[in-house]
Amino acid sequence: MKRCPTCKKANLTKGTTTVERTFPSRGGKVRAVVENVPALVCRGCGEAVVAGEDLGRAELIAASRLMDAGARSGALLSWTRRALGLLATDLAALLGITAETVSRWENDRVEPEPAVWNVVADLVDDRLEGRTRTQDRLRTAAVSRRPFKAPVTVRFEPALASGG
Ligand SMILES: [Zn+2]
Repeated sequence: MKRCPTCKKANLTKGTTTVERTFPSRGGKVRAVVENVPALVCRGCGEAVVAGEDLGRAELIAASRLMDAGARSGALLSWTRRALGLLATDLAALLGITAETVSRWENDRVEPEPAVWNVVADLVDDRLEGRTRTQDRLRTAAVSRRPFKAPVTVRFEPALASGG
């Protein structure tokens, strides 16, 4: 059994914990609380150890919900970008803008257009769902300048049944 990093005793058992993050947003503060995050919990001192992968996922979930709730700030944008593992230059390349613009957003000197938040939220949701659709589309938009020689052929897909 692993030892607790705080009390050094071999008291860690599988459990869950809560991850909290607070950000400035529009002159105030907004707090995200992610419950039920898998962790090794110390029976002695109560310390919870969250694996890096789970912590990263908890942070992405928090970012997604905060953006859905309308939270907006340079600090939130910067933190979300880093939770996605993107450099400022990476995000700039995806959006077809300069890294300086990303820096101005993240330092609250310029407010990004509302659509920027949509794209960032889509990037987060894609990551949580294990797909890369938004990133792929942005990359295609950034490089695709070739004329098409053949039609794009696709099969009709019926809509998923709603409700039920
Ligand atoms: Zn402990």
